[in-house]
Amino acid sequence: MKTDIKSLLLPELEQALAQMGEPRFRAKQIYKWLHTGARSFEEMTNLSKPLRGALAERFAITAPEILRKQVSRIDGTVKYLWRLRDGSAVESVVMHYEHGNTICISTEVGCAMGCAFCASTLGGLVRRLAPSEMLDQVLFAQLDTGERISNIVLMGIGEPLDNFDSVVQFLRLVNSDDGLHIGMRHISLSTCGLVPRIRELAALDLQLTLSVSLHAPDNETRSRIMPVNRRYDVDTLLAACRDYFDATGRRISYEYAMIDGVNDTPQHAKLLAEKLAGTGSHVNLIRLNHVEESPLKPSTPAHLKAFVEILSESGINVTVRRRLGSDIDASCGQLRRKTAMEDLTEHI
Ligand code: SAH
Repeated sequence: MKTDIKSLLLPELEQALAQMGEPRFRAKQIYKWLHTGARSFEEMTNLSKPLRGALAERFAITAPEILRKQVSRIDGTVKYLWRLRDGSAVESVVMHYEHGNTICISTEVGCAMGCAFCASTLGGLVRRLAPSEMLDQVLFAQLDTGERISNIVLMGIGEPLDNFDSVVQFLRLVNSDDGLHIGMRHISLSTCGLVPRIRELAALDLQLTLSVSLHAPDNETRSRIMPVNRRYDVDTLLAACRDYFDATGRRISYEYAMIDGVNDTPQHAKLLAEKLAGTGSHVNLIRLNHVEESPLKPSTPAHLKAFVEILSESGINVTVRRRLGSDIDASCGQLRRKTAMEDLTEHI
């Protein structure tokens, strides 16, 4: 097995090159090629031919293929379906905002978390992505659109904290001076609430934004829609979130998908406001996106409005997430491998 060279940070690459008797600056040259999208060592024209050959014997360069690209006619949102080296497919979405372009990337092929409303988990977890495969989504989307991507959200397929080491390595790669150099403050990581991993992340003090998919303020409701709650319940999760804020100084953002008759009553809103009081946290309400296999329906506009009012009257910072790319199924929870594969057979 060849080493996945794009998953190495510059100091790690320097070490690997030193073992081949190459000076440090060579590692930097190669790192730059990799982080600007080189697909082969042959492209690295400032390296000697023998060195290019020696590198190709030891290392492999990941580079996904665009299997499918859809552009929203409504708002220009772009959805990519990538084919990875083992034939697996994952999706990313590029959204255009006034403050710049944001990419939503996948961290796993499938997902093991089993949330009742989410399409990504329907086929279970196939495998976790390598750091290079997360970086590639940003790199090749940027090359394809020809526009700089300034923000990243880890909210695509998969549970980022279930792929902890690779995700952290990816964050360091994409943040590195000689790489894409995207600031940690421009990155959001979303988790369903793997408490020990939230604590590990806090210890790293990375300055990114942590989003927590809460979706209910009480254990009965939350366990019904999110199996992870049976392992780490609401209060255990909220305690970890408070400690995260104390350790990093970064406020948590909570995601809450509004599901008709399940988590959208005034009682839920009041309890949520009580539990988050004084934390300065932000609640992002999401209109539930319809997933074909699920009986769950989005809340009515009236229930959504009442929910927002209760939260804001209680002093909770609340917004309703804008829907982008609705004509291309690019919204939260709609990305999934099976759909991708069906789409493929239709369009090839
Ligand atoms: N596993 C991570 C990140 C991926 S999901 C997490 O759970 O946070 C990104 C967000 O979309 C999460 O808040 C998730 O709960 C939400 N989501 C999933 N399915 C959805 C759906 N059908 N409608 C609206 N939001 C959904």
